[in-house]
Amino acid sequence: MLACRRVKLRGCGPSFFFTMEYKHLIKELEPKPGEYVQLIDVMPHPSTNVWPETAVVNAARVSYLGESKGEEADLKLLKYLLKHRHTSPFEHVIFKFRITAPVVVWWQWVRHRTWSFNFQSGRYVEFDETQVWDPMFWRLQSKSSKQGSDGYVDDETEQELNQLWDDAQQAAMRNYRFALDKEVAKEQARLFLPGFAMMYQAICTIDAHNLMHFLDLRMQKDAQYEIRMYANEIFEIFNKFMPNTAAWLRESIALP
Ligand SMILES: Cc1cc2nc3c(=O)[nH]c(=O)nc-3n(C[C@H](O)[C@H](O)[C@H](O)COP(=O)(O)OP(=O)(O)OC[C@H]3O[C@@H](n4cnc5c(N)ncnc54)[C@H](O)[C@@H]3O)c2cc1C
Repeated sequence: MLACRRVKLRGCGPSFFFTMEYKHLIKELEPKPGEYVQLIDVMPHPSTNVWPETAVVNAARVSYLGESKGEEADLKLLKYLLKHRHTSPFEHVIFKFRITAPVVVWWQWVRHRTWSFNFQSGRYVEFDETQVWDPMFWRLQSKSSKQGSDGYVDDETEQELNQLWDDAQQAAMRNYRFALDKEVAKEQARLFLPGFAMMYQAICTIDAHNLMHFLDLRMQKDAQYEIRMYANEIFEIFNKFMPNTAAWLRESIALP
């Protein structure tokens, strides 16, 4: 059996060194209450002590019923697979997240058909003020891109917008509660809520190959700022579990 050992991959700069045993990453799976991006499971699990990238090269080597040929050969094969888009071995690594995000983010995220999702339901769960996404700043419409933003509103406009925002959220919540008090069903009363700003929680699972495609699209500058922040956070986690693959991704698709 190929057990993962203390792996040191040479000649590729600092990010190519695994400085600890994989099982130490088990702490990444501990519950992190209140965090919007939480990793809840990975395959291979850290308790196996088999690094995900070892799982990738092992999957590739089944082609000729081979096994690991040591650290350098494993890294060489990993890079070969990435360079030549031999993607299916990466599908044997799975990440499961608990994500809390506003509808404006989910609206874009669910277009990625290779994720598996299960969502909190507004038909069962009552919402409150803490589940409204609060924008930290107001961005201006980009002049060069119809879909993007560029720069921020001035201070005076920001104050006006913040006031308007607070008033609108309070009114929406008041109306939602009024409807619930009148025994309107939750599934309908939610029509009063600020749709795009409402936070929903979901369990989201994806394999490493398709995760890379998602990150490629959603970490780019042309992706909306809000979803980009989520993609960046997921990339940080991905980088801990698959550091060589993450380094390749960052370089090859010129991530910002
Ligand atoms: C910056 C940006 C702007 C966007 N703007 C818009 C917009 O204005 N309007 C809009 O509707 N969408 C928009 N999208 C969404 C975009 O069109 C894609 O739906 C989304 O990015 C998912 O990409 P995908 O299909 O490659 O990914 P996934 O759905 O994860 O699919 C992964 C890959 O699987 C393959 N695949 C999956 N399903 C099929 C299928 N049915 N047939 C063939 N191959 C398949 C494809 O190779 C695909 O690349 C935007 C996306 C981005 C990043």
